[in-house]
Amino acid sequence: MRRPLVMGNWKMNGRRREAQALIAAVAAEAATFPGVDVAVCPPYVYLGVAADGLSRCPAIAWGAQDVSAYGDGAYTGEISAGMARDMGCEFAIIGHSERRTLFGESDGVVAQKFARALAAGVTPVLCVGETAAERDGGHTREVVLRQIGAVFASCGTGAFDRAVIAYEPVWAIGTGRAASPDEAQAVHREIRNAVAQRNPTAAVGLRILYGGSVKAQNARELFARDDIDGGLIGGASLVAADFVGICRAACPDLA
Ligand code: PEP
Repeated sequence: MRRPLVMGNWKMNGRRREAQALIAAVAAEAATFPGVDVAVCPPYVYLGVAADGLSRCPAIAWGAQDVSAYGDGAYTGEISAGMARDMGCEFAIIGHSERRTLFGESDGVVAQKFARALAAGVTPVLCVGETAAERDGGHTREVVLRQIGAVFASCGTGAFDRAVIAYEPVWAIGTGRAASPDEAQAVHREIRNAVAQRNPTAAVGLRILYGGSVKAQNARELFARDDIDGGLIGGASLVAADFVGICRAACPDLA
């Protein structure tokens, strides 16, 4: 039985005061989503706010939205995976579609970042997903398996022994148009099968999150599917009540 995971990706939003308030508000409700692993991913500069606000709330972890493909050194502006770990990050989002499209991250760079996170003891959350054009062209499976294959090629068969995958169709991110539970489940199953071909043990325990316009209203139906083990939440993670509602929807007892 895989424990559900709900992760908030705040992206580049808010200021310290809002970060403090949001963390306090979610932490205050932690008892209302038992059995669910929850993590928030604020911008780097507010990781200390998360560490302070959540130090007495073991139910909620925090993570980084990205890590450098490089180790420590002369890389101005970069943040290493080791630094993220030092700030208490349990997770790092790797290869989000905004990184891939707006910042030109190739599958190879994403795989390097994934490897850096693993080496630093940070659990990578590998984002994969197709664009609308790729879906319309019937290429969803091919795209997603290529993105996962790049990580296997770089990190080896054990790549997903301690990792999470987030299936995030690009057309669903921030659009209000979530994949249907059937659409998402079908891709999640493909992902699990692909991992199983390389590493059957890892595939059984692998948590595959769905991301893309998840709201409290559609979360329960999505999370009820066999291969959907929780969610990566963007916009709705910025409003405490909405995020808490999604965390509650992942509670095994309430599903
Ligand atoms: C995301 O950015 O990872 C995401 C899923 O965004 P949203 O929930 O706003 O669609």
